[in-house]
Amino acid sequence: MTGFLRSAGLGVLGLVVAAHLGRFFTPEFPFWDTILTQQYVHLALAGAGVLLILSILTSLLKPVQKLTKVNRCARCGKRIPKGDFYCPDHLRQVVHEYQDHNR
Ligand SMILES: [Zn+2]
Repeated sequence: MTGFLRSAGLGVLGLVVAAHLGRFFTPEFPFWDTILTQQYVHLALAGAGVLLILSILTSLLKPVQKLTKVNRCARCGKRIPKGDFYCPDHLRQVVHEYQDHNR
């Protein structure tokens, strides 16, 4: 989510910069003035700013999400201690399946 918002914000900024560079290097094309009206540029910059601010906010929220995240068994969804993948029952089952597989 954070990465997407940051990419989108930087993408919009990049488009505005690219359009200005385009107008700078190829001023003979008439369509630059219709694309780069003040209104569009301000709208694009405001949109990019909002996206970048949202990406910063979501990145700040990530540690909080990690703290509140409850670890659950991959098979039955029961609550389990941090760092475990399975509840005790399913851990036993997985170990048995692994041993059977390697016989
Ligand atoms: Zn389980």
